[in-house]
Amino acid sequence: MKALVCRGVGEPLRVEQIPDPVPGEGEVLVRVRAAGICHSDLSMVNGILFPLYPLILGHEAAGEVVGTGEHVVLNWAPPCRACWACLHGEPWLCSTTGVASTPRGDWHVTLGLGALAELVAVPRKALIPVPEELPFPTAALLGCAVLTGLGAVQRTAEVAPGESAVVIGLGGVGLSAVIGLKSAGAGSIIAVDVSEAKRELAFAAGATDFVMFDEVKSIRGLTGGRGADHAFECVGRSQTIQAAWKLTRRGGKVTVVGMGAKDDMVSLGALDIFHSARTLRSSVYGSSDPDRDLPALAAAVLDGSLDLSPLITATIGLDQAPHAFATLGSGARTVVTFP
Ligand SMILES: [Zn+2]
Ligand SMILES: [Zn+2]
Repeated sequence: MKALVCRGVGEPLRVEQIPDPVPGEGEVLVRVRAAGICHSDLSMVNGILFPLYPLILGHEAAGEVVGTGEHVVLNWAPPCRACWACLHGEPWLCSTTGVASTPRGDWHVTLGLGALAELVAVPRKALIPVPEELPFPTAALLGCAVLTGLGAVQRTAEVAPGESAVVIGLGGVGLSAVIGLKSAGAGSIIAVDVSEAKRELAFAAGATDFVMFDEVKSIRGLTGGRGADHAFECVGRSQTIQAAWKLTRRGGKVTVVGMGAKDDMVSLGALDIFHSARTLRSSVYGSSDPDRDLPALAAAVLDGSLDLSPLITATIGLDQAPHAFATLGSGARTVVTFP
């Protein structure tokens, strides 16, 4: 099969011809039909997440089960249902998940999947069936960006109707957060990015305002001089986490959705922490249980109540994927489709 392979930190990405994966006990073979290029894949390429190489990239995907033809979304963090977190209603914190790469034959696969490939062998519990009417590229995005972004808004932060929110970083996850805020009935939805090119995308996703990152001080004026009720940091950098903190009102909630680097330290004043009475927390996989929440999102897409069309800005073939990594961040999501 063909797969997008990274052979080491800083090595050029290449589409390689490698042996088909062989499913082990309890595993099934899935023919990948669409796979998104997520920022976490880039964090595998540049070594921030310390994966092992050679590494097959990709973890946001949908496809068909070989043999049955069932349409499925792949879950990159399938919970064990037996550990402490799973038994206490927090399967997104399952102790068995979250490993950057796992070995498979002579290769390693990203987040247990390695889905920028024609075929993947995955545990049966990683399959989430979806209706055949759901287009594969949309289905793929449900598996990472959408579950993460919508979940951060609706499950982690529990945004209430009328509340104001700032979203920093308008990639697939940030734009999903904007879509989630709109469907949660948020009042002001202030989208922030370093790229002016994100303005149209932000409004298409439901933002009420767009502000360039170097002008974020103007946001106070948009939020009654107080700051926003919520801020969602979808970048994963200390600088943007600190900005999210400052843009939130006293008593507000800051939700870190971006996955940053181990040595990037966030600096907050001790007096400020006390005086601001803010809450700072992170959102892992949107505080979601994919087995429960993803089919509901698929149904919402199909009944027209959830419009994810602003998220997909390009659809490409696998051969173009190395170039797409080089230009990552210019649009919303680029999705690789497989014939
Ligand atoms: Zn992802
Ligand atoms: Zn578990």
